[in-house]
Formats: sequence, structure tokens, C-alpha cells
Amino acid sequence: MTVYKETLYDGYGQAFDVEEVLFEQQTDSWHLIIFRNPQFGTVMALDGIIQTTEKDEFVYHEMLTHVPLLAHGNAKKVLIIGGGDGGMLREVLKHDSVESVTQVEIDQAVIDMCIEYLPNHSQGAYENPRTNIVIGDGIDYVCQTDEKYDVIISDCTDPVGPGEVLFSSKFYEGCKRCLSEGGVFVAQNGVVYMQPDEVLTTRQRLSPYFKDQSFYTAAVPTYIGGAMTFAWGCDDEAIRQQSVELISERYKASDIKTRYYNPAIHTGSFALPQYVLEVLGDD
Ligand code: SAM
Repeated sequence: MTVYKETLYDGYGQAFDVEEVLFEQQTDSWHLIIFRNPQFGTVMALDGIIQTTEKDEFVYHEMLTHVPLLAHGNAKKVLIIGGGDGGMLREVLKHDSVESVTQVEIDQAVIDMCIEYLPNHSQGAYENPRTNIVIGDGIDYVCQTDEKYDVIISDCTDPVGPGEVLFSSKFYEGCKRCLSEGGVFVAQNGVVYMQPDEVLTTRQRLSPYFKDQSFYTAAVPTYIGGAMTFAWGCDDEAIRQQSVELISERYKASDIKTRYYNPAIHTGSFALPQYVLEVLGDD
């Protein structure tokens, strides 16, 4: 049996037994592989970096959707940047209050491949009448659209290659301009123990646009090296500090079934370890 080794970090990484390669594409700009693994089911990796796995994707997708949506409390229009595997779209659509979701994905091929090889991620979300797919660069979209959104979720690859622009000040400025009053911006922001400078860079680039810039975390098993960090931006601090009682009321009213997210996890996830507070100068 061959072994797939993640190469994200020098001198440290995870390895997956490859039971079967379902898809592999080597182009001049990237290497993409989708394979079966006995522990994590179907796994997708891009340029040596694990993007998502069938078994643990629910943690990441539930935390990047239900936290901002239940904190906001009345989101009708949602924008997803990236998210080609469809897991984010699936979770957003569980909120009946959401009238439309626009997803801006740079590569149609990722959507097509994930529908074929990771069908449990999207579970038909791409055919939902509330779904609107735009194929293009997320930074162009947020800088040019006339639409306004209540929640914006950046679910992109790591800040290398096409994903790099989605960690830039220009992108954050674009997101702020198309966020409605009291809107919430969230983004995947790497594993802080391994990539501490990513949270500091995001703090420096995001805080000029939002009165309340913070982070929250969740442990996603195949995003190795510690807790995955999510960036938060909003102009109303109270939205991040909702009580567990209020979040519980909204969670119950939503009638959404989750496997990781719950109101205590929601409010607790904003508590950051001391070493992260020190990196941010918030200690
Ligand atoms: N959950 C994964 C993670 O945390 O690394 C990422 C999920 S998803 C596979 C990442 C998506 O972002 C991919 O489909 C990729 O094509 C898309 N993407 C990367 N750069 C982009 C850009 N500039 N605009 C829009 N989509 C982009």
C-alpha cells in the first residue's frame, strides 16, 4: 500500500495509507489528488496539503457556518468565497432563514470533482434553488459586486498560490464593502500553533476594517498541529459576545442537527490560549 505524506510543514507531518487513488491531476500549477484512506475515508489534498476529508469535515464546516449565522441571528444573504468541496454550502443551507447563498469558487473543476468523489460534502447543495454559483476569483468579486451580504465566509486554501490574495488587505476591504450593517465576516486562518504569524498578519490587516476583530478555534483532526483558528470581523462586539442562553434559543429554533457545534462550544470557542493572546498582544 502506498503512503501519502503531507508536506505542509518542514520536519513534521501526517501520513495516510492510500487504499485507492480516485482522482489525480498534475498540472503546471498544482498537484491535486483524491484517495481513499481507512481512517478518514475519502481525502482530498492539493500540493501536499490536506484540504478536506470525509470523516472530519463536519467540525470545520459546522464551525465556520453556525457560529457566524447563529451569532448574527437573522442572516438572509450569505457569501462563501472558495468552498469548492460544497461542505460549507451544505451547512449554510440548513438555516431556513437564509434566502440565498452565493459561492464564488475559482475552479469549476474542484466543484465537479467533489460532487463526483466527495458527494457527502455537498449532498445536493449545488442543486438547491437558493444556491448561486459564481466561477471566479473571490477578490475580484468582493471588490466589484453591488450585492450586500449578512455573513461572508472565506473558505479558501492556505495563503499560497490562488488562495494568497484571500488573506490580503484588499480582500478584507472588499469584504467590508459588501457586508451589510451588523454583518459578520469569518475566515479559515490556519493552525495557530504551527502558523502563529498568520493570526498576527490577519489581525494587522483585518482590524482597520472592523471595530471587533477576534478569533475562535476548533480542533479539526486532519488540520494537524493543534486547533484550527477562524478569523472574525464585525462592527458590533455584542454579536460575538451573545450569551449561551440566547445562542441556545436560536440553535433550538433552527432545528439544525449538528455533530460538533453546540451553544457551549460556540461561546467557548472564542476563549483563546495564552500563547495566542501573547502573539496578538491581547494578553
Ligand atoms: N477546508 C480547506 C482548508 O481549510 O484548507 C479548503 C477548502 S476548499 C477545497 C478551498 C477552495 O478555495 C478550493 O476549492 C479552491 O479552488 C478555492 N480557492 C482558492 N483560491 C481562491 C480564490 N482566490 N478565489 C476563489 N476560490 C479560491
